[in-house]
Amino acid sequence: MSASDPRRFGLLGHPLGHSLSPEIHAFLLDQVGQEGSYALYDTPPDRLGETVGRLRGDLSGWNCTIPHKQAILPYLDAVEPAAARYGAVNTVRCRAGRLEGFNSDGPGFRAALAAAGMHLGPGRALVVGAGGVARMLAFEAAREGAETWVAARDPAKAEALCADTARALGGRTDAGAPVLLRAAALSDLPVAIASGVRFDLLLQATPVGMWPETSGLPVPLEVLGGVRAVYDTIYNPLATRLVLAARRLGIPAAGGLGMLVEQAAISFRLWNPDLPDPLPPGDPARHALYAELRRAILHRSPVNLVLAGFMGAGKTTVGLALARRLDVSFSDLDGLVEAAAGRTVPEIFRDSGEVEFRRLERAALVSLARPDRTRVVSAGGGALLSDEAAAIVHEGRGLSVLLDASIGAILERVAGDGSRPLLAGPDPESRVRALWAERRPRYLAAADASVPADGPVERVVDDILMALGLEEGPVGGGPR
Ligand code: NAP
Repeated sequence: MSASDPRRFGLLGHPLGHSLSPEIHAFLLDQVGQEGSYALYDTPPDRLGETVGRLRGDLSGWNCTIPHKQAILPYLDAVEPAAARYGAVNTVRCRAGRLEGFNSDGPGFRAALAAAGMHLGPGRALVVGAGGVARMLAFEAAREGAETWVAARDPAKAEALCADTARALGGRTDAGAPVLLRAAALSDLPVAIASGVRFDLLLQATPVGMWPETSGLPVPLEVLGGVRAVYDTIYNPLATRLVLAARRLGIPAAGGLGMLVEQAAISFRLWNPDLPDPLPPGDPARHALYAELRRAILHRSPVNLVLAGFMGAGKTTVGLALARRLDVSFSDLDGLVEAAAGRTVPEIFRDSGEVEFRRLERAALVSLARPDRTRVVSAGGGALLSDEAAAIVHEGRGLSVLLDASIGAILERVAGDGSRPLLAGPDPESRVRALWAERRPRYLAAADASVPADGPVERVVDDILMALGLEEGPVGGGPR
């Protein structure tokens, strides 16, 4: 075959919904100058045999996803030993009418984990979930010798997964030691942590926190107190609330985009052994692909990126710059309140008091919930301090970022600004200092992420993009 001899690939699953795989494979084909296509084949279980029969002559290869990774096995002419050991195939190669099965999920995950600076090995791993992805993660952790806990809301499913994994591994780690697998109920984890159990790596494999229900946390936050690193397989949003919460605690945490890309690249190499590697180590193409996928996720799966912080932290200036950088719209919460009330914020404070202002502010937050397009929202200085307001943001598909400006920078920025109600009256500096000291810990506790906000605007924007996983950060992610 040649560049002018198009190769056709695809994805079989059901239901398929939206998938990034066509974009990834179009990029990889383009990267090596090969014409080709990657199409989605939504295939209900009862149509699998018929679809395989039709596609075996048409496609050069395809990926399988839920619910076909095991169901495909009887249709294959050969299964690579590693895939046979997994008992699951996600990559089918068609050669001269023969179908060969491979699994790129495990190696893709391992590559992504290493790229995030995290490692499997002796120590203790916690797999959250007991579905297909959890099965792969438990297999990888246990074979590397980790004492692997599998925690699911239904402990019977966790037990079944542990038993299957031990069987698939023949009871031995790669180093020949007995495998250590332990089932748990999700609800038991806080007690285990409180009694001193520690995990070197938490591997998240449930849909909890995934867009469109971005507010979810798959484990209670106290569990993070006993965890040293987090890999969340969810890639939409790019950083889930779990990932953000871990980073807030100084725990290295990464989302699942790398796993998606690496398994695709491995499938591509299996299908096209005659072509150059489309993503060789250190190639800038990898960066370009990730940037394209991040953009696609942000634009297809709208969220509110809510900037919080004290007066003078730069919420509007930084918000506008962030919106420009992401090519999304910008909303100012105070502006919405004023438009709805037909009065300025100082007038609302003066005539109706703070309680009424907060009520209007919450109503404005509700009006922004579940946006049609991603947007940046600049929230007022006190807007996100109540649990109720934070819940409105989260339930409305929002993630909040604290612009953490020092008191020195704030005083410099707001000096002489008579339009702010708080600055009217005698000795405004003492009042600003006192309020800042009282509010800062509450801001820090309420925000999903926080970035230093004393520096130049574009630097703050860079830090926000990295904090939210919208740009590549250092190992393990998070702001600089
Ligand atoms: P799956 O087979 O359907 O398994 C989902 C697991 O999550 C099950 O154990 C399920 O428990 C559990 N779960 C669902 N809702 C839950 C809730 N509200 N609370 C607690 N547990 C809950 O799905 P999968 O194929 O393993 O995929 C799992 C996740 O992996 C996906 O949501 C996706 O975000 C991620 N993923 C990432 C990639 C990647 O390349 N990065 C690829 C595929 C999937 P029950 O059995 O009790 O329902």
